[in-house]
Amino acid sequence: MTFQSIVEKYCRYFDVADPKNLTLQQWYQIVAEGSLELACSQPFAKPAESRHVNYLSMEFLIGRLTGNNLMNLGYYEQIRDYLKQYQVELVDVLEQERDPALGNGGLGRLAACFLDSMAALGQNATGYGLHYQYGLFKQSFAEGMQKETPDTWDRNNYPWHSFNPSKTRYVGFGGKIKHIQGDNYEWSPKLTIQGKAFDLPVVGYRNNLIQPLRLWQADSDQSFDFDAFNEGKFLKADKTIVNAAALTQVLYPNDNHKAGQKLRLMQQYFHCACSVADILERHFAEGYQLADFAKRQVIQLNDTHPTLAIPELMRLLLDDYHLTWDQAWDICTNTFAYTNHTLLPEALEQWDQRLFKQLLPRHYQIVEKINDIFHQKVRSEFGENSQVWEKLAILFDYRVRMANLCVVTCFRVNGVAQIHSDLLVTDLFPEYHKLFPGKFCNVTNGITPRRWIRQANPKLSDLLDRTLKQDWAKDLELLSGVEKYVDDAGFREEYQAIKRHNKIVLADEINRTLALKVNPDAIFDVQIKRFHEYKRQHLNLLNIIADYQSLKANPNQDYTPRVFVFAGKAAPGYYLAKNIIHAINNVAEIINNDKQVNDRLQVAFLPDYRVSLAEKIIPAADVSEQISMAGKEASGTGNMKLALNGALTLGTLDGANVEIAEMVGEENVFIFGHTVESVRELLAKGYHPKDYYKKDSVLKNAVDFLAHGKASNGDKETFRLMLDSLLERDPFLVFADFDSYRLAQQKIGSAYLNREAWLRSAILNTARLGTFSSDRSIRDYQQHIWLKK
Ligand SMILES: *Cc1c(COP(=O)(O)O)cnc(C)c1O
Repeated sequence: MTFQSIVEKYCRYFDVADPKNLTLQQWYQIVAEGSLELACSQPFAKPAESRHVNYLSMEFLIGRLTGNNLMNLGYYEQIRDYLKQYQVELVDVLEQERDPALGNGGLGRLAACFLDSMAALGQNATGYGLHYQYGLFKQSFAEGMQKETPDTWDRNNYPWHSFNPSKTRYVGFGGKIKHIQGDNYEWSPKLTIQGKAFDLPVVGYRNNLIQPLRLWQADSDQSFDFDAFNEGKFLKADKTIVNAAALTQVLYPNDNHKAGQKLRLMQQYFHCACSVADILERHFAEGYQLADFAKRQVIQLNDTHPTLAIPELMRLLLDDYHLTWDQAWDICTNTFAYTNHTLLPEALEQWDQRLFKQLLPRHYQIVEKINDIFHQKVRSEFGENSQVWEKLAILFDYRVRMANLCVVTCFRVNGVAQIHSDLLVTDLFPEYHKLFPGKFCNVTNGITPRRWIRQANPKLSDLLDRTLKQDWAKDLELLSGVEKYVDDAGFREEYQAIKRHNKIVLADEINRTLALKVNPDAIFDVQIKRFHEYKRQHLNLLNIIADYQSLKANPNQDYTPRVFVFAGKAAPGYYLAKNIIHAINNVAEIINNDKQVNDRLQVAFLPDYRVSLAEKIIPAADVSEQISMAGKEASGTGNMKLALNGALTLGTLDGANVEIAEMVGEENVFIFGHTVESVRELLAKGYHPKDYYKKDSVLKNAVDFLAHGKASNGDKETFRLMLDSLLERDPFLVFADFDSYRLAQQKIGSAYLNREAWLRSAILNTARLGTFSSDRSIRDYQQHIWLKK
């Protein structure tokens, strides 16, 4: 089979005689479906014989697949060149794809990078997620405010997925339980829902390996009631079907925040029940026994969202396979591993006990027993100590605490950057650490180099190919080979020219989207991530306002021209974060239209942040804003993508910034602000943000700019929510870090003027980032988690 024969077939199908007359949309369909056909006509490679990794995640932020799959399959150049005869550019064809936005941010993107790396490394793996009808909402701005519209990614016509009818599962909710004997019960659910499997191919990098990402879609178990329909009660007839399908209609748009609704709990159980049934069936189909389960399978929980897989596997082992409690518990405690993603208390999931019990009566009973047995263990270790139990209990204060259930059950609990894993043990779970010292470990996050340089930055990739003459995308540590070219004039010139080219491409994109012409010689300073108070986009904003005021007061000062680029969404119900977005947009409007400054200072807020937009912004960045309050960002991965592409980090000692700074050297990053330790001291002394406001006139003037309505047509209420929070509590220490941040920004302004030294730092960032490949993360999981039990 050739691509030519596929094009001919599609032309007949579309009734188009000459391929010249195909639309870009039709080319997109041909390229996507055709390359899958081509790939499937090759013999598949088999992954290594090893424990199968079942990666359970409520989110997979995969981004566009077509370009990535073409590259991994090794078809990219061939198809690009083929299309040229019809004056069709492959990049334009690839722009036709709407990103499947089946995740919120870092957590979902991590899951996608991990699937890519497991396929690349030949690690036997299946990803399990949900087939949302609407992914994360589409963001636009109306008078500076975030507007949300549904993301219709048209899943039914998505060329890369296929319905797999042999994998349909059934999931119960509610109802009653009946005791049979011992730990054996019978559950009769009140409602049963069908889970249909939709598989996306995860294509290994040039190794002929394809493994599934299996996404479950809810559907009614009842067939359509035609009698009721014929009697004219069609709305009633359709009701159960509509209700069941509603289960996987929407992705909850919260990032680092729990969403306590009933539908979310139902989604979680639906995801877990379908996945666990699938894992068991595959295990038996491969000819293994239950006794081998933990030896053959590992279930990695991406945060607590899939925790219900634990009581679900217990239930099946007890009630369907008639194991004893101890046998079932032994399997579970050797199969499950848990990745923690946050220390923020508002993000730790807890469910109302009554809701839990009503929806999942048998699971509740199992959790109760796990809790009781664990209570005995805690008593024997700590004695009758209610303060300790209050922290360790799974069931407490009418709540079911999912993180505690995970820590009690799982054989490994990992944080996602060294500092985060340390804080897990010292701050969040110290008593657990005392009980289970060997359980806790660290696996620092990573990013796939296939997407985040090879695809996103083709010019830099080409330079690296020519310089290293080896496939660094397979082994990112090879990038260290670039270090010796840091003083090579030819290499430096090319590296510099590529950054400049990428900045011009982004400038065009900004002009197309915002009708704003930005200066490509200015510093491109980017902060692209979800909006959250702890990520402190408002710290960035206050500094921009201060720069603006300073330029207005003193127009002849030396100021290195800057373009501040923002992108990111706020959860629709997170009003304070939306208030920050509004403020940035309004300040941008003023600055961008002020002729006195806009040749030196500009602000571009690109709407609808998503993977494909990240791929356009990152290669063009000079400065990477990673300015979370120390101790709040678990790892971050945006920091890695940007540094890898030669942006210099402006960051706090938080998450993976700490390790990035260690790797690239402190002379090649800009670190500022309070550390975890100094935050602790400050809070112990008592933190009063108003003192900073009163003492620091630069900060005061910047705050007052917003408070006095200068960015809101004189209205003093518009930014009240954000300003009151800052002045009264400032829970994320924006004011306490303002001065230090501003100083770091001024250092950047001077450093950028020394173009040779800056370029050197940028090159060293690329050269020293190899360790942040998600291939390394996966090897760490293999070594510290999956090969143990
Ligand atoms: C990498 C990525 C993130 C995570 O960014 P952080 O800066 O680590 O929060 C979020 N969204 C998208 C689309 C990404 O590609």
